[in-house]
Amino acid sequence: MAVAARVLFVASEAVPFVKTGGLADVVGALPEALRALGVDVRIVLPWYRSIRGRGFPVRRHEVSLEAWLGDRWQAAGLLEGMTPGGVPVYFLERDDLYDRPGLYDDGRWEYGDNLERFSFLCHGALRICEVLGFSPHVVHAHDWQAGLALALLDGPYRDSGVFQGTRRVFTIHNMGYQGLFDPGRLGATGLGSEVFHYGGVEHGGAISLLKAGIVYADAITTVSPTYAREIQGSEYGMGLDGALHYRRERLHGILNGIDASAWDPARDPHLPARFHADDLGGKRACKEALLGELGLDAAHLLDRPLVGMITRLVDQKGLDILVPVLDALVELGMGLVVLGQGDERHQRALGEAAARHPGRIGLRFGFDEGLAHRIVAGSDLFLVPSRYEPCGLTQMYALRYGTVPVVRATGGLEDSVRSYDPLGRGGTGFKFRAYHPDALLSVLREAAMLWWNRTRWQDLQRRGMAEDNSWSRSARAYLGLYASVQ
Ligand code: ADP
Repeated sequence: MAVAARVLFVASEAVPFVKTGGLADVVGALPEALRALGVDVRIVLPWYRSIRGRGFPVRRHEVSLEAWLGDRWQAAGLLEGMTPGGVPVYFLERDDLYDRPGLYDDGRWEYGDNLERFSFLCHGALRICEVLGFSPHVVHAHDWQAGLALALLDGPYRDSGVFQGTRRVFTIHNMGYQGLFDPGRLGATGLGSEVFHYGGVEHGGAISLLKAGIVYADAITTVSPTYAREIQGSEYGMGLDGALHYRRERLHGILNGIDASAWDPARDPHLPARFHADDLGGKRACKEALLGELGLDAAHLLDRPLVGMITRLVDQKGLDILVPVLDALVELGMGLVVLGQGDERHQRALGEAAARHPGRIGLRFGFDEGLAHRIVAGSDLFLVPSRYEPCGLTQMYALRYGTVPVVRATGGLEDSVRSYDPLGRGGTGFKFRAYHPDALLSVLREAAMLWWNRTRWQDLQRRGMAEDNSWSRSARAYLGLYASVQ
């Protein structure tokens, strides 16, 4: 078997059904790209409250399905839908687990039964294969919520008829979320105490479901080559660097792609005007409309560089180095637009800066897909100052929209942005290395200066717009990986 013809994705999010971050983009788009390469790929997701009631066409399978919950097998429902590109999606239904306002937390605290909720997902995914007679060549699990599935394949499901020869692939989208639980609750995973040791699911005395994925995978991937290197060291490995270094021969970095049809400035329905590399006129109209939408001072900012940012408002994303430079950014004549949701602390710090600079800093707290597109299109510069960034998608959207990325040189930001080179006039954006406000400010200053040189700036924009960050490139890399573990 040279090619993995049947692949099961297990994950906690996928666009267009449910999304809190980049994981959902990957789990929505990669299967479609694999399908285009001839793979029979299917996805298992929880049937969350936020999916039901949104009108996705689904049909119910009248099957008898049970999965491990707490200390025994309990009933689950099974619904089937489809991604827009035709990939079947199995929704695991269990209202006491998934019919809640949030995916992982109630807005403040993580749900106390996340171990049970996601153990149920992993068992459910494998039980769905058994019930439907789907025999995958590869089970591809994503992040800690799905990591247990790979340990289960090595344990209780090892002799199952549908998993003979099944290989296990685990993708880490973010080392910062490790699925850590009290060891006294191991029974909720359906695994026995024999797996609770350093070479199994134990991490620092706790159960780690991220580690389960790392340990029991035939191949581990993460979402950029640089992040694959970084997480083998203590600064980025977050305590799991030893386990990853130990398994380094099985660890691969594959850069994510972007959904090139949803993120296309020539066809984007969210924009007031469209544009492409040969005619950037529409981009100015997008900027003007964006300034208006956020109540910013268009008379001042239309002819000055506007910086955009779309982010979860969490420590990872570099807000602690951004906030100290906001006054200086405005003094440089620049404007800033931030769309984000997350920690109140970060909202407050941004809000205070915006209050000091009315008309120059525009903020929107919440999740808004349309505004995200308008910010990417209407900004001149796009800022991603992350402390760490496994891949990052927004800088790749920005490149496609002629919005020049300013990024910290880490993870996928390092891999997807090439530094502007004033001599050779190459590169696609600006990078800084030290995680420090001064380093960020100095590169913002450099970018702001170049912005006034229209010819050079447009060359820079066009080089970015010509980059190929499509999913088909990444999907071919995953297919090669699947073949290598057969
Ligand atoms: P992460 O997965 O760490 O959040 P990524 O850059 O990989 O970071 O992916 C974030 C995705 O979520 C992008 O598609 C981005 O456009 C989107 N996003 C993040 N915050 C918002 C928001 N507040 N409104 C709309 N889209 C958002």
